[in-house]
This record gives sequence, structure tokens and C-alpha cells, in this order.
Amino acid sequence: MSIPTELINRYPWLPSLKKHYFEMASRSPSIFISEVFSKDFGSDLKERLLDLFEAAFDNLEEISDYKSDKLNVYVYLLLNIFLYALDNQLITNRLANLYSKITYNELTKENNDANLYNICQDLGLKIRYYEPPINYGVNIVKDHHQKLETNFTIHFIDYLRLASNLRDEYRKLVHNSLLEGYVFIQNKRLIRLIQEYVRNRLLIKETEDKASLKAFLSDVSEIKDFKEIIDKILNAWTERKEEFEYTFKIDFESKEELLTLYPPCVKEILKKTQEGQNLIHNERLFIVWFLLALEYPVEKVVDLFSTMPDFDREKTTYQVNFAKKKKYIPYKCLTLKSLNLCFAANYKDKLCLEGYGSVEPSERKKLAHPLSYTRIKQYRASKEEYYKNKEVDEVNE
Ligand code: SF4
Repeated sequence: MSIPTELINRYPWLPSLKKHYFEMASRSPSIFISEVFSKDFGSDLKERLLDLFEAAFDNLEEISDYKSDKLNVYVYLLLNIFLYALDNQLITNRLANLYSKITYNELTKENNDANLYNICQDLGLKIRYYEPPINYGVNIVKDHHQKLETNFTIHFIDYLRLASNLRDEYRKLVHNSLLEGYVFIQNKRLIRLIQEYVRNRLLIKETEDKASLKAFLSDVSEIKDFKEIIDKILNAWTERKEEFEYTFKIDFESKEELLTLYPPCVKEILKKTQEGQNLIHNERLFIVWFLLALEYPVEKVVDLFSTMPDFDREKTTYQVNFAKKKKYIPYKCLTLKSLNLCFAANYKDKLCLEGYGSVEPSERKKLAHPLSYTRIKQYRASKEEYYKNKEVDEVNE
């Protein structure tokens, strides 16, 4: 199936980009960069790229004058090159988040089933289209009956693959209707899955091959326009990065022992925030409720989120304050397990896996709550301290 070039221009992350722009996509990055900035639209490109980075650093969710014309293809290719050159997971996460949200907005705005179908085809998704829309049930909210219908179904394997990082309850396969292995899906939810595809495409991991990166940088740094843009991006990042990194380091790096009191489920979420990864809804709720239950100050909890791609201090402060007022209890182990948020096995944690209370395995109690983990660890640490002091006193006597 051939997809219109006009669609590739608007959505350059589509696999068919290589076919439509074969010559451009197969050039070496340094030749591509030199050529593209020497064109008469070079300064426009610079401006668009810098706007994207600025918006990502400012946690914006969209760009007001975003243009989805042919230059979009150059912007997308350059964006990939700059993210590789910057080799910074926090920056990459922010850009991937912003760019995928822009894609979501663009796809939603155009409201065009034919394009949506072509995009899914190009992505190799098994998709079925129904005209007129197919009915698949009724939603009842407070005596109000709403007929559920859609034009699209997607094969459950593709659905699971795209939704694997979106672990909200309502997305689970068991909560969705199926027909012959195909999941009924509303346009908005299908677009949300495509957004996730785009985000993952841009999530280039920090490279392990630092020697190749160095060689690449020394090559492209000779290009005046590249150097100018990367310097501007790095300056903008340096100005803001303290806001994202500083408090977190004080809290969790200088107080190493604090981390030993937290169970694996908490450590895993803290690790994600440190890496600037986005958290799913349940992870956010759990970590906020957990830290508040330990009487962690609101501003410290808010700071924890400051490394995340979609951080908004005002909004987060409001939500954390609200949670504090409501005194929510953090999820228990059973709930965390059902949400796939238990990491006891990955961390090979003895307390989580073997329980506590006795040396005799059959008499051990099972750990039921992450807060119990912290209390038990605190109790054990205080006991150790007590015996250590006692030994010192006995030696001194
Ligand atoms: S067993 Fe409980 S405390 Fe331990 S990692 Fe799993 S959910 Fe967390």
C-alpha cells in the first residue's frame, strides 16, 4: 500500500519516510546537516528546532504555531540527530513526550478516518475499518444508557504491544470488548496508542559507544549551524536543569541510608523519576501517598517529580496538597502486585520474598504493605544501633 507523501510530511515518523525520502534518509548525518542548513529555509529550520527544545524544557504540551508542512521531515530527522548528539536521557524524554503530544493533537484535530486508517496500515498494525460504525455494547452511567460504537478494531497483539507502557486499568484487555481477536477501539484511544508509538520511536537510549559519539561530535561540530544550535540548546538546558535535578540529588543521594528503608516497589519508581521517565497514573498516586504517609514534606514530594517530562510545579503542588488533605493510604502489596508494580523478585528482596517474624520459614508472616516494610527496616536498624552502642559501652566499662 502506498501512503500519500503529504501524510509523510505531516507525520515523518511513519516507516514509509524511508521510501518517500530515500535519498535524504540515506545520506550521512554530517552531509545532511551541511546541506539542509545551506538551503534558503535553513534559518526557519533552526528556529523550529530551537522552539521544540525550548517548549520541552518549559514543560509545554504543544507549540502554538506548529507547522506540519514539508519542513517537518527535516525537523524530525534533525531532532533525532540532535538527541543522539546530546546523549542525555532527561532531554530525550522531554522531547519525546512533547513531540508525541503534538502528534496526538495533530491527529485529533484533523479528525480524518481515512488518514488514521492509512497511518495504521503504514505502521503495520492489523486494523479493521467499519462503515457505518459497529455497535459493541452499552455504557450505563447513573441510569443513562450510552450506545458504544466505533469505526475501528485492532488486533489484540498490536493492541497489547502499543499499550504495554500504558498500564491504566481501563486499558487492560479484560476491560475491552473483542471480536475474532480484534479489540473495539474508539478513535481517541487509537490515536493515544499512536502517540505512544511516536514517543517510543524518539526515546533513543544514551549510547554506550561513547567513542563513536565523540567521533561524530568532532565531525559535525565543524558545521557552524550545528554548533550554534547545540550550544543554544545546552545553554537553555543549563539554565533550567538545576530546577529538575538539584533537590532530588540532595534528598536521595546525600541520604543514602534513606533508600535502604524503602521497598523495591518504591525504589523502582524513584529510579524512574531520577532517569526522567514518565510515570503511569498508578505509580504517581502510589509514590505520593507513600511518601506523604511517611510525613515527607509536600515541597519535597513535588521536587521528586521535577525531573519528569511533563512536570508542572503548580499543578503538582495542588495535587500533592489535595492528597495530603485526603490522607489517602498507599496501595497494599496485593494491589501493587495486581498492578504489576511489585518489584520484589527483580530486586531479590528477602523481606518481601520471605516475610518476617521468625527464623523458621513456616512461621514467618507475609509482608502485606510497603509501609510495613519501612517500619520493619526502621525497627531492625534501631535494634542494630542499640546493640552496637551496647557493645561499645561494654568494651569501655
Ligand atoms: S512485596 Fe510489597 S513491599 Fe515488597 S516490592 Fe512487592 S509490593 Fe512492594
